[in-house]
Amino acid sequence: MSGAPQGDLDTVIGELEFDPRSLKKKYEVERDKRLLPEGHGQYVPTVDGKFGNYGQDPWAKPFDRAAITDHTEVVVAGGGFGGLLVGARLWEAGMRDVRIIDEAGDFGGTWYWNRYPGAMCDIEAHIYMPLLEELNHAPKHRYAYWSEMLELSRKIGQRYGLYDKACFQTVITEARWLENEKKWLIETDRGDRMTATYFVLACGRQSLPKLPGIAGIDKFEGHAFHSSRWDYGYTGGAETGELTELRDKRVAVVGTGATAVQIVPEVAKWAQKLYVFQRTPSAVYIRGQRETPPDYADRSKPGWQKARRENFQKILLATPQDIDHVADGWTELSRRLKPLMTSKEAAASLGRKPTANEREFLAEISDYRVMNAIRSRIEETVQDPETAEALKPWYRWLCKRPCFHDDYLEAFNNPAVELVDTEGLGVQGFTPQGILVDGQEYPVDCVIFATGFEAGISYVRLTGFEVVGRDGTRLSRHWSSGVRTLHGITTDRFPNLLMVGGNQHSVAAVNAVHLLDEQATHVAYIVKEASARDLATIEPASDAVDEYTEVIRSGTANKTLLSFYSSCTPGYYNGESKASKADDLFFGNRYSGGAIQFYQMLANWRHDGALKGMVCD
Ligand code: NDP
Repeated sequence: MSGAPQGDLDTVIGELEFDPRSLKKKYEVERDKRLLPEGHGQYVPTVDGKFGNYGQDPWAKPFDRAAITDHTEVVVAGGGFGGLLVGARLWEAGMRDVRIIDEAGDFGGTWYWNRYPGAMCDIEAHIYMPLLEELNHAPKHRYAYWSEMLELSRKIGQRYGLYDKACFQTVITEARWLENEKKWLIETDRGDRMTATYFVLACGRQSLPKLPGIAGIDKFEGHAFHSSRWDYGYTGGAETGELTELRDKRVAVVGTGATAVQIVPEVAKWAQKLYVFQRTPSAVYIRGQRETPPDYADRSKPGWQKARRENFQKILLATPQDIDHVADGWTELSRRLKPLMTSKEAAASLGRKPTANEREFLAEISDYRVMNAIRSRIEETVQDPETAEALKPWYRWLCKRPCFHDDYLEAFNNPAVELVDTEGLGVQGFTPQGILVDGQEYPVDCVIFATGFEAGISYVRLTGFEVVGRDGTRLSRHWSSGVRTLHGITTDRFPNLLMVGGNQHSVAAVNAVHLLDEQATHVAYIVKEASARDLATIEPASDAVDEYTEVIRSGTANKTLLSFYSSCTPGYYNGESKASKADDLFFGNRYSGGAIQFYQMLANWRHDGALKGMVCD
């Protein structure tokens, strides 16, 4: 524990059922094993095509169409939940001329690509799925599977007329502000040169699959694919399992993050042999998946979904609530993270005001307890003691994305499943027949890479195209010394450009769709007001952007957060333990006041009606 008091809190430590000092040491040793000087550089992106077709779309057939040169009021880059919400909120605001562009063959974003068996979101469907109230949709399960999310995405597309002008299988190559015409020119890989009055970026944050840059990866002669491009042609079956073609196959899953946690139980049911190659164990808690009857949640009062989302978010922020609507692992563990003693209780116990370090120490105790509970659950579930020990995560809560699943740990009791723990070192190499760890070859027929997506990259790298604003200002240059925005939604020198997503200048929201909806509402408001006021251009003033950027930079919570993450084991949450690059849009500072305060700030700004900080023409 950072700065754990050595003196008068020793009594408190002595009364605990565990020794926090030795746990802290263990966490440090486990982290240090995993530190790699290359950080993000350890991975190879699939988009570069260096290792074949790992990034290819398995779900859509290529098609030809004529190049488009028309004008649309609003063009949105990205057809995932972010882009769909922007489209829906614009429609509600009376804006009907909207075009969404996406590389995929349909709407859905994450849920278009990630169709691996068992793929679902572990945020409760009633708060995660967008526009449930508007579409009167009752989720079928407590945690929705990909197919229902894809189906809902299509419903949103139809309900809000977003298919009419949508361009799928289309990759934007550049967006450029045309000063004389006061509009955006959007060019694509299909030769399109379309224009738009407003251009919205809704490009997600982790969409580029990556592979570990391991020696010999391209020499493997068996079958291999990335989790986000599942090959049902090879495995047989569908979302619900039935992976019958794996019955005579030796399969490797590389990675044990949130994706692998969902894949492993499904593959375990079918493969002749399944090796799970682990570098760092995930913290896996109870999910409690079940079917949800229509009366599962009270959907009768208007605004129920917003209220349920806020209730969830407030519990995560330790704001007392009369009722816990979602009542799942997220809310349960968040409640259990309450400091051992309040400052007042600690003062009574110590006979003086506790120091900042002592307060932090008291807070860390409950973190150790939560992680101890997660580790105990592994011991209780996994029969083989050696496997159980290897599956234990040794880091603090939220150092890595926590996972919730009812069948992952249980899968290791299946005799066909073998955990290959690499002791923090990762897979060592590939041979034509299999995978090497610690000099031992594991021969396999198929490798499934559940090794995640490029994260902590610049916005231009993420989207794959440059955005060029006034006087040829390139977004990559504009943000080269750090992201600058007003509210994370607009930036100076880029008129009529808006963005949604979990960027640095917004908040870290566990329920990402809640954030997207609040941002989409804000985007729709700005576009509607600009249109109603007959403005040709709207953009934030440079001093308003400077001011907001300083709010983010100087936020007190950020300092705590950055010191917490620097103590964590590497992963995309902490930029693989590297200091953040200045133009890294997603790692680093965030709005310090937390999600609810951030949403309220946006709502107040809209309510004020003065478009404060904006320059309008
Ligand atoms: P992650 O980046 O979370 O996990 C990648 C995994 O690959 C890690 O276990 C990593 O180990 C491992 N790995 C990387 N290199 C090697 C190597 N050389 N040898 C062995 N293992 C290696 O990717 P995911 O696809 O799991 O998740 C991606 C995103 O999708 C995350 O944001 C996640 O939260 C989200 N997601 C959310 C879900 C939900 O229900 N809400 C479900 C699924 C995904 P290490 O930890 O050591 O780096």
